Amino acid sequence: MNSIETTTGDITRMAVDAIVNAANASLMGGGGVDGAIHRAGGPAILAACQAIRQTLYPDGLPSGEAVLTTGGNLPARWVIHTAGPVYHTDPDPEGHLAQCYRRCLELAHAHGVKRLAFPGISTGVYGFPKEAAARIAIATIRAFFAQAPEADLNVILVAFSTADEAILQQYLA
Ligand code: ADP
Repeated sequence: MNSIETTTGDITRMAVDAIVNAANASLMGGGGVDGAIHRAGGPAILAACQAIRQTLYPDGLPSGEAVLTTGGNLPARWVIHTAGPVYHTDPDPEGHLAQCYRRCLELAHAHGVKRLAFPGISTGVYGFPKEAAARIAIATIRAFFAQAPEADLNVILVAFSTADEAILQQYLA
């Protein structure tokens, strides 16, 4: 059965099949959750990202797209890197945020992932308002579940503070 839950904590510690990285177009790491994932996961993740840049995306990962790599030393087997929209400059931040969630869910499903953890994509330095981001995330996940009832996916929305988790809970109710 498909399900959504929330928790508060560090996504790098989650023992799930795959965690999502709120990456940037370069795929070369950065601050926030991206930096934490590369630090905790070790060099295998960066090496896989470099290979993707050299083959699939020489100009960088477009906003709304996602790619899958090893989880390296993380408890999670895979990392799904997605480039969230920069809220104040992206031509379609709402559409691209929804696309990020959709692409990650599709990739996860294609790899047989059963437990998938998401951070709040774009809600840090990329400036997406947290309420709107929570609403879009949950609506997009529910739409995917309706389309793929057989996916048997347990999605965990990982907040980085209890205040952020309360926002997610409001839209799950
Ligand atoms: P973006 O550039 O997409 O905005 P950030 O990493 O700046 O990405 O922030 C995305 C969200 O991830 C923010 O809500 C931030 O509080 C949260 N975050 C940062 N570090 C972690 C972590 N280790 N685990 C879970 N969430 C995190």
